[in-house]
This record gives sequence, structure tokens and C-alpha cells, in this order.
Amino acid sequence: MEAGRLYQSLRGRLYRRLPVLAVPLGLLDWAPGAKPGTDGRAYFAPPDWFAAADAEDVLLHSVLHAMLGHPWTRGRRDAARWDLACDMAAEFLRQRLLDRPLEGLYAQAFYACGDGAAYSARSVYARLEGEFPIPQDELREAFRRDSHEYWAAAAQREHNDENDSSRRKAHGRDLHRVKAERIEPAHEYSHRAP
Ligand SMILES: [Zn+2]
Repeated sequence: MEAGRLYQSLRGRLYRRLPVLAVPLGLLDWAPGAKPGTDGRAYFAPPDWFAAADAEDVLLHSVLHAMLGHPWTRGRRDAARWDLACDMAAEFLRQRLLDRPLEGLYAQAFYACGDGAAYSARSVYARLEGEFPIPQDELREAFRRDSHEYWAAAAQREHNDENDSSRRKAHGRDLHRVKAERIEPAHEYSHRAP
């Protein structure tokens, strides 16, 4: 099957499992890339990746990054630690959405993050800056699912958009309207029964 259709089928399976993701899933179309990952606009993956046994889990992990703005909200934080914090927050949320229990290192890391902190990359990042009972290399190994190589371009674009918006605002245009123009409806999923 052609790669675009394999992606549609993968996305459809994830949507049927989690209809709540209709909008973010609908926004991410496939584009060829060396590794699976997202910049918040496209879902990149090599055409032969769709058959991977964990493809659905990886896609969900990446979609959560996009939903939570991880690719473009690092700011001045350390890139490696931010990557890890985002992976941990995305994985904890993924397990929660799929109603899967946290076991082993996932459980240990979740409780080490403390109450209410584990689902927020910013909070996890702050925890990782202090004493954390599990070495970061071990955490990286356990929580990495996708590639974050597309994030730098996403952050740069957001930065440029903000500058553009500021200029437009200076000319009397509404900042919120500019942002809203970038959101499109999830046409192909909105009326399909799960
Ligand atoms: Zn990730």
C-alpha cells in the first residue's frame, strides 16, 4: 500500500481508539522524513515505518507533543533536558489515555515527579533540574519514542510568527485572529462514528 494511505489507516486506528484526538490527528498529514516525529504541522516518517509494531504508540506520543506545544515552547531551557521532560510528560499522558497502569521505571519516575507535575513538561523539567532519583540517561532510554529533530524548525517558525503578529498588531490587526487562522477543521474525522 502507498505510504499516504498507510498513514491514513494508522491515524484512523488511533482515532477510533481515542476519538477525543480527532482535531489534532486531523491536522497532521504525513510527510516523508528520516524518522517518525512531528513539528506540529506534519507527521514525518519514512514510508517503510508504518508497519512497525509500535507505530500507533509512537504516533500518539508525537501527537501529544504537538497538542501540548512541546516543539515550540522550550524557550531558553536546556535542549536535552527539555526533550527528556517532554518525552516523560507525553509518555505519562499516553499511558493515562490508554488506561494502562504505570509499571517499573515509569511508575518510579512518575512518583518522583510529585503530585500533579508528571503531565506537565515544564514541571517535569523543573524536577529534573534538582535531585532526581533516576539517572537522566536511563530516563532517556526508557521514554524516547520519536525524533525531536523537527522541533528546532517549529520553534523558529513560532518565533517568526510572533514577530509577524506583533507587526500586524502594530498595524491594528487582532493577534488572536492571526493565530486562529492557522487552525483548520478536522474534516475527515469529524462525522465518522468510532
Ligand atoms: Zn518525543
